[in-house]
Amino acid sequence: MTGTTPASFTADDYKARMERAARQAADAGLAGLLVAPGPDLVWLTGYTPTAVTERLTLLVLAAGRDPVLVVPTLEAPDAEHAAGAPALTLRDWTDGKDPYAATAALLDADGRYGISDNTWALHLLGLQQALPGTSYAALTEALPMLRAVKDAAELDLLAAAGAAADAAFEEIRGVAFAGRREADVAADLAALLRRSGHSQVDFTIVASGPNGANPHHEAGDRVVGRGDMVVLDFGGLKDGYGSDTSRTVHVGEPTDEERRVHDLVREAQEAGFRAVRPGAACQDVDRAARAVIAGAGYGEYFIHRTGHGIGVTTHEPPYMIEGEERPLVPGMCFSVEPGVYLPGRFGVRIEDIVAVTGDGGRRLNNTTREMVIVD
Ligand code: ZN
Ligand code: ZN
Ligand code: ZN
Repeated sequence: MTGTTPASFTADDYKARMERAARQAADAGLAGLLVAPGPDLVWLTGYTPTAVTERLTLLVLAAGRDPVLVVPTLEAPDAEHAAGAPALTLRDWTDGKDPYAATAALLDADGRYGISDNTWALHLLGLQQALPGTSYAALTEALPMLRAVKDAAELDLLAAAGAAADAAFEEIRGVAFAGRREADVAADLAALLRRSGHSQVDFTIVASGPNGANPHHEAGDRVVGRGDMVVLDFGGLKDGYGSDTSRTVHVGEPTDEERRVHDLVREAQEAGFRAVRPGAACQDVDRAARAVIAGAGYGEYFIHRTGHGIGVTTHEPPYMIEGEERPLVPGMCFSVEPGVYLPGRFGVRIEDIVAVTGDGGRRLNNTTREMVIVD
């Protein structure tokens, strides 16, 4: 993945994030955190290498110690330009040297470390070999809420990304659907996302007719026809923060059943949104949305969790799912996206990003949730 560094964050912001992360790691009984290139590194330092390769780049965080970024010598000049670089000590290693031995010198020989989920196995195995006494936990297992609560600047960026995705929807509802392949509509959507300021498009789902019954159908060669329901689910990164919204449109006039199922999902989405408030459990949002769908007899056709967090990625903790009892906190930001999927027939999904406020929730997507009729 490529990551941009929003200009709105300073070295002090990154320093505060790294200190908070190190403190949380210590509270969780960890000797520290090891973070390879990816969303955690972007969030903690503002740094993304131009290419992620087999050469080790690793941030080492431990409470009470200065953060150290281990980098290949040839990439050190790039790392020095990261917004968070002034808050980091760079430790570079040259080709031919053992980067794991160099990193081992920074670690406790018998420490347990949280390590970013997307760290290559190659690197984790190298560290284990260099320091056989260490042990490791996946970062999102150890600290699932590390990036979950957004500050005001992050919320502004997420709101702007949401507004940009909304602008893309307002345009796409005006294009021709009937007679074109899903992939062609998806290409339009991707272009609209980029035009509205997205630097990265993560997904442009166009799932027409029976394809709509598969929540992760992307977009293919199927030609959209008159009478089709079409699930649109699209998003990416704008200024380093994510968008993700779904609307289900219909080509021409819908049947009574299609309208009824769409109304049901809209009602479920509204119920999920209304369940958002500080102190409610994540699972309460899922339960509220699911109860509406189950109550209408469609429970078995709502086959996924209600939502996921969003931030510097488009899918991250917290998850709105049965069993997730952690409480909602102001500043958390996640999707509310119930759906009904009728195999072989059609699907409906409606998704907004919602931010937890002091006393409820605020939608970051604001296009109509009524069924939109397209041509
Ligand atoms: Zn239809
Ligand atoms: Zn989505
Ligand atoms: Zn989503």
